[in-house]
Amino acid sequence: MDTCLACKSCAGQCPVKVDVPDFRSKFLALYHTRYHAQSGTCCWHGWNLLCHSWPRHPGSARQRAAGEPRRKITAAPHRPGPRADAERCRPDRRTRRACFAIATPASIAAVEAQARRAVIVVQDAFTSHFETGLVLDTLRLLDRLGFHPLLAPFLPGGKPLHVHGFLGRFHRTAEKNATMLKRLESTGIPLIGIDPAMTLIYRSEYKETLGEANSPHVYLLQEWLAQALASAGSHISDDVEPCFLLPHCTERTNAAAAMDNWERVFTACGAQLNVLPVGCCGMSGTYGHEAQNRSTSETIYQMSWGPTVARHYAGGRLMATGYSCRCQASAIDAVALPHPVQVLLALVGSRAAVKSGR
Ligand code: SF4
Repeated sequence: MDTCLACKSCAGQCPVKVDVPDFRSKFLALYHTRYHAQSGTCCWHGWNLLCHSWPRHPGSARQRAAGEPRRKITAAPHRPGPRADAERCRPDRRTRRACFAIATPASIAAVEAQARRAVIVVQDAFTSHFETGLVLDTLRLLDRLGFHPLLAPFLPGGKPLHVHGFLGRFHRTAEKNATMLKRLESTGIPLIGIDPAMTLIYRSEYKETLGEANSPHVYLLQEWLAQALASAGSHISDDVEPCFLLPHCTERTNAAAAMDNWERVFTACGAQLNVLPVGCCGMSGTYGHEAQNRSTSETIYQMSWGPTVARHYAGGRLMATGYSCRCQASAIDAVALPHPVQVLLALVGSRAAVKSGR
């Protein structure tokens, strides 16, 4: 079971719903009651907590996250774990500076009049800590499309705890996060998540742990946007070069309509989208960052992602939805794949400029 990436693709595709990551997690929880957890696993957990404290203590966390613990749990220095950027890792502060609001009772009451156009973006640890700019780009895109985006306060979702079998701690983390999100959901404003793997946790692991009634419903970004753009009838038409999407394997296999929804969103924004037939990128959260997994991780990447990236990257319109996938492509092929939000923002922004004659 050490070689399972916990990508959950089997769970989505199995006709009798055998869920390997789920029973692996339960096995590890039992194992941890009798034996010590592997030191690397504990380091990842500690590192996760360290990243969570980052916004409060940016200076110290920067030094520690760039230092010894991070190096010890990952492979050689040229294969480091994801590096948080202390200058940029302040989603709450940067959101306010960009004139967007954090979702609080007061800010929600202030947008009550426009509630039908309001939407709350749920943060996840990967995007908020390592790609803070993408959080801001998502808020900007929603704003340009005529919605009123608010950013949910950050609380850890607990996915790494579940993957590594710390089920007691996962339960407590999930309960706290779900309580906060349920409170926001009760205002009637929809919740959306940016990273597919971190968002789908609310409809699988959370439901199994907390029950359906206690789990918030968090839409994948494209699920909500496809509906919202269709009902708003907002079409921003023009012929443009086709875009190519490398989806996260968890999203493709566990959310049946996810790819169609991305196509609908791109069509509504006047762009063509081709979803490429790739499998797992081999990174899957922290799996590919661990030294003992690195060779398997790279082999998996070369099975479908490597040739596809080589074929389509030069066109400049190759995107990936998963944080881990972008991280893997950057590490192996030294390419910077944008999230679809960033391509859409450029498209919508350039159309707005043309319309206004700028
Ligand atoms: S690697 Fe992915 S598809 Fe294979 S067993 Fe693990 S979770 Fe299932």
